[in-house]
Amino acid sequence: MNASEAKKRIDDLTATLNDYSYRYYVLDDPAVEDYEYDMLLRELAGLEEQFPELRHFDSPTVRVGGKALDEFAKVTHASPLQSLQDAFSFDELREFDRRVREACGEAEYDVEPKIDGLSVAVEYENGVLVRGATRGDGVVGEDVTQNVKTVRSLPLKLENAPEYLRIRGEIYMSVSTFNKLNAEREELGEPLFKNPRNAAAGSLRQLDPKIAAKRALDIIVFNVEEVRGYTPESHSASLDWLASLGIPAIPHRKLCKNIDEALEHIAAIGEMRDTLQFGIDGAVIKVNDFAKRRMLGSTAKAPRWAIAYKYPPEEKPTVLRDIEIQVGRTGVLTPTAVLDPVRLAGTTVSRATMHNRDYIREKDIRIGDTVIVRKAGDIIPEIVSVDLSKRPPLTPEYEYPDKCPACGETVFNDGSEVAVRCVNPECPAQSLRNIIHFASRDAMDIDGLGPALAELLVKEGLISNAADIYYLEKDKVAALERMGDTSAANLIAAAERSKQAGLARLLFALGIRNVGLQTARTITKKYASIEALEAASAEELTELEDVGAVIADSIVSFFAKEGTRHLLGRLREAGVKMTEDVKENADTRFAGMTFVLTGTLPSMDRSAASALIIERGGKVSGSVSKKTTYVLAGENPGSKLTNAQALGVPVISEDDFKKMME
Ligand code: NAD
Repeated sequence: MNASEAKKRIDDLTATLNDYSYRYYVLDDPAVEDYEYDMLLRELAGLEEQFPELRHFDSPTVRVGGKALDEFAKVTHASPLQSLQDAFSFDELREFDRRVREACGEAEYDVEPKIDGLSVAVEYENGVLVRGATRGDGVVGEDVTQNVKTVRSLPLKLENAPEYLRIRGEIYMSVSTFNKLNAEREELGEPLFKNPRNAAAGSLRQLDPKIAAKRALDIIVFNVEEVRGYTPESHSASLDWLASLGIPAIPHRKLCKNIDEALEHIAAIGEMRDTLQFGIDGAVIKVNDFAKRRMLGSTAKAPRWAIAYKYPPEEKPTVLRDIEIQVGRTGVLTPTAVLDPVRLAGTTVSRATMHNRDYIREKDIRIGDTVIVRKAGDIIPEIVSVDLSKRPPLTPEYEYPDKCPACGETVFNDGSEVAVRCVNPECPAQSLRNIIHFASRDAMDIDGLGPALAELLVKEGLISNAADIYYLEKDKVAALERMGDTSAANLIAAAERSKQAGLARLLFALGIRNVGLQTARTITKKYASIEALEAASAEELTELEDVGAVIADSIVSFFAKEGTRHLLGRLREAGVKMTEDVKENADTRFAGMTFVLTGTLPSMDRSAASALIIERGGKVSGSVSKKTTYVLAGENPGSKLTNAQALGVPVISEDDFKKMME
């Protein structure tokens, strides 16, 4: 790779990884699996080593992850809470051992599980718990004392305590609590936590300690950071001492004489992974003797006396009991594996994605097969392969349905894509997905009409398409399970309000393939009524900015469909507005400009800011490029800000933005 290619890749990786870190540490909502993150970080570290002059000052290879949220008081750590060097193979661990011995002679290693939770520092003064803080960026963390006090396994008061003690540990949510919490959230229709780590991080960073208390968090302590009134000589001695004070010191640790023993114990921890009540994402090797640790020292990011080994993504065999086929909004059939439940990467897995028909065919997956399931860190598990040696005799090949499981109509694959589709416009499964989309926030925004209620209304026969929403009768809605007069009246009022949403939102709500909200807005600038749009030819439509042949064809074929006329007729009859207001002397001050939004704006939410831009003729994009006119940045901006600075794109604040609108 030459220097200019390397620069591009380093810029891209830095921006992408900083964005992922922001989602992971600050928002507690990771965008990718840890394994993928780790592999990209490795690639970046390798390139930076080759081209040190291209390293960014904020590279994720030299910084500790997070950033303290402004909602919390800040704590400056008395000494930095560092990260750990990573290794993905035993060879790298041997290399670590060689470096250690070179610097300080033979060393004993303490080997312990690496808990996958949220790093905290806890302080005791004369035995009383006085402060708990998150790691943050390693130097400044968030004061979460009140929440840390709700962790029942952590003593609030220590007997025989030293004058001052600062310890470091990992707050986590046990697997059983996590499963219970997600089951409750599912019941209430709340978004599910992706994994126990996010659940723990989200719970600890609640402003209301009552919520944190309800989440039943736990802690495991793995380090004495500072102590006055006691002088331990080694790590293992200090952990034994913590345990004697009643502090939950890290379990399953072992003092190993040399690297061979250490590797053996790492393998043993890997074996017990599934039986533990806490998730782990690796094992840590630490030089045990404190005097040797001092000789080894630290880099800016991590100590030289410790290293984390990350286990490869976990894979497990289990039996495939069934293949369920779901029908999406656009009629695409998606297969999901129904599995015998299996513990994988800290959670119980009973479903896995199978992507599409070709995936099942290529791997020749059959019901009854023993399949290997993989879950790399978190997010969605998938079937990697089939263990053919375990296939029961005479297991028939899986036949992908040729009829839609929801409506029974023949399904098609036109050869141009892998997807198999149901093209029946009356298909109930598609109708339900369409109704959910129609009512959603960016579409008609019918408050209260979420997936669960939509499903109930369809199941009870009160609606079968989007137009039916406007003909609902209050009494019938009120009689539904968990509804009642007030909820029914609210729903009908919300539907009534949505009639004024305007043509752009309506077009988006109708679910025309390839037509997003922004495209819908572009379209309505020229075609301000549905009649005008219906009369437009594909050629005319392609004259619009950002409308290519594919979108134009989608629109034309949508209006040509039999069901469309009927649906629009009923929407019109119900009084749904089918025009977009054309403003006299329209304000087009942002015409030709592209904005990118990042961070939290002080007084408006991002969708309001986007609407203001689009109304004035501007565009909003999700990523920064040289074509971006402005980046509008609020608090806690993501890597978009760094990208803007790297590309020399002007960055403005909400105040600047407001001035531009005056
Ligand atoms: P790290 O998590 O790999 O290692 C350091 C942390 O390990 C410490 O903060 C400490 O709290 C913890 N730890 C747990 N048990 C320990 C023990 N027994 N001894 C010592 N420390 C122990 O490093 P990091 O810099 O915090 O974060 C990197 C991790 O975060 C990686 O696993 C990475 O995959 C993940 N990450 C994922 C994303 C994503 O988008 N998925 C983004 C950023 C980071």
